[in-house]
Amino acid sequence: MWNPNLSLILNKSLRTLVVFRRVCLSSLPDVSEMKSYDYIFTGGGCAALSLAWHMLHRPEFREKRILVLDKESKSRNDRTWCFWETGEGPFESILEKKWERAWFHGHGLSKLLDLKPYAYKMIRADRFYAHTLDFLATFPGVEIVHAEVGESREVHDKVQVTAGDQQYVADYVFNSILPKKPKQPGHFYLLQHFKGWVIQTPRPAFSETEATLMDFRIEQNGECRFMYILPTSATTALVEFTVFSENLLDSEAYDSVLKEYLEEKAGISAYQILHTETGAIPMFSEPFDKAKSKRIINIGTAGGQTKASTGYTFTRIQRHSARLVEGMLKTGHPVLPTVRSEKRFAYYDKVLLHVLANKNVPAAKIFQNLFRHNKAAAVFRFLDEDTDFFQEYKIMNSVPVLKFIGPGWKELVGW
Ligand SMILES: Cc1cc2nc3c(=O)[nH]c(=O)nc-3n(C[C@H](O)[C@H](O)[C@H](O)COP(=O)(O)OP(=O)(O)OC[C@H]3O[C@@H](n4cnc5c(N)ncnc54)[C@H](O)[C@@H]3O)c2cc1C
Repeated sequence: MWNPNLSLILNKSLRTLVVFRRVCLSSLPDVSEMKSYDYIFTGGGCAALSLAWHMLHRPEFREKRILVLDKESKSRNDRTWCFWETGEGPFESILEKKWERAWFHGHGLSKLLDLKPYAYKMIRADRFYAHTLDFLATFPGVEIVHAEVGESREVHDKVQVTAGDQQYVADYVFNSILPKKPKQPGHFYLLQHFKGWVIQTPRPAFSETEATLMDFRIEQNGECRFMYILPTSATTALVEFTVFSENLLDSEAYDSVLKEYLEEKAGISAYQILHTETGAIPMFSEPFDKAKSKRIINIGTAGGQTKASTGYTFTRIQRHSARLVEGMLKTGHPVLPTVRSEKRFAYYDKVLLHVLANKNVPAAKIFQNLFRHNKAAAVFRFLDEDTDFFQEYKIMNSVPVLKFIGPGWKELVGW
């Protein structure tokens, strides 16, 4: 028998559903009214400019509408990138300098390393920004906007981005803005922090064909501390003091170490400081998320392209950019499969961070053994993750193995 109360209840529920649907739809932004792009880059530093540069070297991307959002105009020389590479790389024309020989100094070991077939290369950030931005400016579909980026979220198979008081929409977002995340137990969060001076001396003080890669002959304070010298001429060099530790030092502490080193180890007391560089690079064992969603892809440091055990990022950004472009050309999507060896190298990195964070063995000793027993090229290949297991075994066997067994085992079984 038909119950009139039941009909009343059904009617009421239906009306509630209709109202609920209307409320839901009205709270979703109408993306068709927003300025629309194929790709938006949130953050327009090294990774964004590199990926855009790699994309626009392929004809398939040249008609695309691309928006680069950054809170600042990229024109300051806010960092110097150094990396090793064989042969000529894509940014050879803007190199500041390259070296085929470099010194390693430790306690009881001073060795001039032959880097061949690699060269250690240096690029100033201001030249890199100008070079890549000039190239991007030749494409009418590329826009650069300076604004503080807020939220990015997927709506109806598009990504909506808020920047300043504007909203934009794109098929895909490449994000290089670091997320703020709480630290997780069981991980190591070191910083590679540094201060460097570009100095000029009144008389020749450097051999411009020889860099100093690492000089551990300074007070270690129970941490990993070293200097490096990158001479660009006989009278100019970037001299940098680097520390791996959890916390930054006071600004004066970096200055006093730099001053003391120049006077006591390099024998340089007269010099003029032309430029100062400071920075901190995350050396985190917790992996950065490669993507926030199918359409929001993280790149650069935010996308895990900083090698956790060394802080080197520049080359990894170039490789990642090239792979993303190939992936997009093949599948239409910028999502990359995990490379099998990634996990193995993430494990090695975590073990080294464990050893450094817990100070199981002085860092100087690890690096000294590494460069005493291996050719520089073998170390570079290992750090580039281009080695096989037997080559890795040889490298690992050259460091104080016994001190690595405990941390290695703990990280393996997840203690
Ligand atoms: C001083 C310094 C020296 C380094 N030297 C080397 C080196 O020698 N070799 C090496 O391999 N690596 C080096 N690195 C590490 C790494 O290569 C660089 O940090 C590199 O710039 C990382 O690229 P990225 O695009 O991930 O980040 P970034 O280049 O920092 O780009 C991120 C961009 O996001 C923008 N941004 C951030 N927040 C917002 C926001 N809310 N809204 C809008 N825009 C925002 C920033 O302005 C920035 O332009 C160095 C890092 C530093 C800091």
